[in-house]
Amino acid sequence: MSRLFNFCAGPAALPQTVLERARDEMLDWQGRGLSVMEMSHRSEAFISIAEQAEADLRSLLAIPDHYKVLFMQGGASSQFAMLPLNLGGQGGTANYIYTGIWGQKAIQEGQRYLPTHLAASSEANGLTRVPTPSEIQLSTDAAYLHYTSNETIGGLQFDYIPEVSDDLPLVCDMSSDILSGPIDVSRFGVIYAGAQKNIGPAGLTLVIIREDLLDRAQAQTPTMFQYRVCADHASMYNTPPTFAWYLAGLVFDWLKNEVGGLEAMAQINQRKAARLYHTIDTLDFYSNPIAKPNRSQMNVPFRLADASLEKTFLKEAEAAGLLNLAGHRSVGGMRASLYNAVPEAAVDALTAFMTDFAHKWG
Ligand code: PMP
Repeated sequence: MSRLFNFCAGPAALPQTVLERARDEMLDWQGRGLSVMEMSHRSEAFISIAEQAEADLRSLLAIPDHYKVLFMQGGASSQFAMLPLNLGGQGGTANYIYTGIWGQKAIQEGQRYLPTHLAASSEANGLTRVPTPSEIQLSTDAAYLHYTSNETIGGLQFDYIPEVSDDLPLVCDMSSDILSGPIDVSRFGVIYAGAQKNIGPAGLTLVIIREDLLDRAQAQTPTMFQYRVCADHASMYNTPPTFAWYLAGLVFDWLKNEVGGLEAMAQINQRKAARLYHTIDTLDFYSNPIAKPNRSQMNVPFRLADASLEKTFLKEAEAAGLLNLAGHRSVGGMRASLYNAVPEAAVDALTAFMTDFAHKWG
C-alpha cells in the first residue's frame, strides 16, 4: 500500500487511522454481523453511532446546550438557500460580508429568498484582506449577518469574529476551517459546513444552530429544508447519509483521542501553515497575495514567478507523491490545502520539493 500526500481542497485527506478503523469495521460492525451501510438508521446500533458522533462534536467544540446540531444533506451550497428560508420568516434584510467566491455564491442564492444588503466587501482590495470591524455597515432591518470564515479558493481567512448585537444572528459558513481550532460557538446564531474537508466524507452537512432561531422559517420552506423539522427528528426525518455520519464520528473520535482536542489541532495547523508560508516568502520564485493576518491556515494559494512552469510543477509534484496542488479551476495557479488530516510530514515534503524546484528552474 502506498498512500501519497493529498493536498486536495475537498473532498480532502482523511486521517489514516480513521480509514483503517472503517476498513476493519467494514464487513461486521462491532459483532453485529453487518456493515454500517447496511443498518437501519432507526436501529439501536446506528442510533448509538449517531449519538456518539454528536456527543464528541459537542465536546470538541464545547457547544452550549441551547444549540442544536443538525446532520443534514445537500452540501454547504444548499445552506445558501436554507438560511434565508429559515431565518427570513419575520422579513428583514439578509446582510452579507463578501470576501470571495463562496460568499458571493451565498449572496446570489440569498437574493432569491430575501432582500439582501452588502454589509462589507473585500472587492476594493482584490480579495486580499478581510474588512475591518469598522467597515461592516449593517442595514437597519437586518435578519442576520452572514460571512465566510475561510474562503477556500482565495485562501482568505477571518482573524476575528464580527461583533453583532445580541438580537442579530451571526451566520458563518465554516466549511473549510471548522474544527481546525477552538471557536466560541456562543458568538454565533448559525454555523454550517459541508463535511468533505475537516469533518468526513462528502454527503453530510453540519448545521449548529441556536435553539431560538428554529422557528423563523418562511412559510414556503420545503419540509426537508426546515431546521425545526430536522431538529425535532434528531436529523432523521428521512434517511440520513448514515455512512458519512459514521465516518464523521470516527474523525471526531480521532480529534479527541489521538490529536488531543482542538487546541492541540490548532497548534499543529499553525506550524504547518507557517512552514509553507515561510517557504513561499523566502523564495522569490513563489508568491501569495493575501495580507498576512488574513492568510488562510487551511488553503494556501500560491503562484510561480514564471507561470509557464505551472504544468511542470504539478507534474513533478505528482511524481514526487504530492497530489492535488492545482489551484481552483476558476483562478488557476497552485493551492495546497492543509486540513487537519494532512500530516506535518506532508508539508515537510512539499516545502522540500518547492525549494528543490525553485533551485532547479529559478
Ligand atoms: N463554502 C465553502 C467555504 C466551500 O469551501 C465550499 C466547497 N468547497 C462550499 C461552500 C460549497 O460546499 P458544497 O460543495 O458542500 O456545497
